[in-house]
This record gives sequence, structure tokens and C-alpha cells, in this order.
Amino acid sequence: MPAQSPIPNLQSPLSYDFANILFAGPCNACCPFCIGQRVDPRLNVPNLRHYPPANLDEFVEMIRHFAIRQLVFTGTTTDPQIYRHEARLLDYLRGELHPESQFSLHTNGRLALRKWDVFNSYDRVCLSFPSFDEATYRRVMGVPVVPDLAEILRRATVPVKVSCVVTEANRGEIPGFLRRCQAIGIERLVLRKLYGEKRAWTELLAWERLGLSYRSDYRANPVYALDGMEVTLWDFDETQSRSLNLFADGTISSAYRLVEAIGAAD
Ligand code: SF4
Repeated sequence: MPAQSPIPNLQSPLSYDFANILFAGPCNACCPFCIGQRVDPRLNVPNLRHYPPANLDEFVEMIRHFAIRQLVFTGTTTDPQIYRHEARLLDYLRGELHPESQFSLHTNGRLALRKWDVFNSYDRVCLSFPSFDEATYRRVMGVPVVPDLAEILRRATVPVKVSCVVTEANRGEIPGFLRRCQAIGIERLVLRKLYGEKRAWTELLAWERLGLSYRSDYRANPVYALDGMEVTLWDFDETQSRSLNLFADGTISSAYRLVEAIGAAD
């Protein structure tokens, strides 16, 4: 259902916080909770080899029209670093869009150390990372081999935020996980609830062992500090972010709920 006019009549707000370019295709992880599998399959046309992505020109026009400055490379069913033309598309968009545009990569980090140059050519990266423990990582991500987060951080020349989805598999580890992230130099981290998780954070986490100090709210999500590391507790049901999304089949949509568990907010 690709958009038919340059500026589709979206049920849109007057402005957007960011624009997502969503890739689809086989992933190098197999997360049991992958929300992309619940998205209408007509939107998930595999596009990992396609250049340019379907409807890119109209999407660029809309980004200009709505003066969106935050662009995100992410995926519904795959990781954007698997996209064959990742560097080429990033270069093209930097040339086409406002010079102050900021580009973010939302990745599982499994290709980071192999695609180093392009990783560092974004303005920042949000890296999904649920555990340092091999067995836990496998339960959450569905695949073995934990990416070397400390090494990724050592080589990164751009800010890297860690995004950790909280499941039954890793929720008991979170206090130690936060300490280790802080120790290797992570400055920003977000804990995310699974889609449909009804428990409050105080119920879900070993709250008394976390040692978090409340600082502020960001879009109705509380932000804490832990020895200099910023920790946001992200609850999608409470989230008010607005995004414009280019799906892999060329559909342009402002329906944030379709991609809520992908972690589009930055
Ligand atoms: S949640 Fe992300 S990393 Fe996990 S299988 Fe889905 S697309 Fe891949």
C-alpha cells in the first residue's frame, strides 16, 4: 500500500520528532519477542538488497516538508547493518537533507565490529544489548555469541546508547548489568518493557538493588542517574513520541504503534 501522493494525507500531528527508515528481511538474531513479526506482512517486503528503498523520494520530500531533523535507520524484521547499501544510502541522505540532520543507527550490534566505518559514520548509535551472560543473551536474542560491547565502545567515535529489553530471562540480572555497563563507560542506557508488559518497573526489577537516583522525565518516561550513567525507564504505553515511518514496501505511515517495540525513540 505505497503512498500515492507526495504528501499523503496522514492523520498526522503538526510536527514529527523523527523519521524511521525501516528495513525488512532475514535477521542475524531471532528474538522471541520480535515485534516486526506482528507487523502486517505486506509492509515487510524484504528490501535488504534494494537501492534505493521503495518510495525514498517521497519520504525525503516529506522529511523536508515537515522539517524533520532526526533520521533513524532501523528495521521491522531485520537489522539495518545487514542492508547491503547502508553506507550509500546514508551518504545520499546526508547530501539531500538539511545539513543539521542527525542520523541514528538502531542495531543489535552483531555486525558492528565488521562494519566499523559505517557504524562510526552515523551521528549516534542505539545498540540493543540485553545481557553480558551467554546463556541469558541466547534466551533473549535467540542466537549465541554475545557481541563484545566493551570493544564496540572502545572503537566507537560516536555516542553509543544501550537499549536493554527486560524479559523474564534477564530481569534478575539488571542491577549487575547496569553496574557493568557503567564500568565499561556507557553513558546512556534505556531499559524497555516488552510490548504488553503490565507490571510496574518497581515490580519488574529488583528495585532496592538498582541504586538509581531520579533526575527528570523524558516524554513521560522517568530518567535516573547511576554513578554518572543516565538510565531511562521506557514504557511504550506511556510514550508520546511522533514518528514518520518508511516501511520496506514503500508505505509511509505516522502510526508509531506499528513500530513501537523497535525502539524508535532516541
Ligand atoms: S527484534 Fe530486532 S534484532 Fe531481534 S529478531 Fe527482530 S529485528 Fe532482529
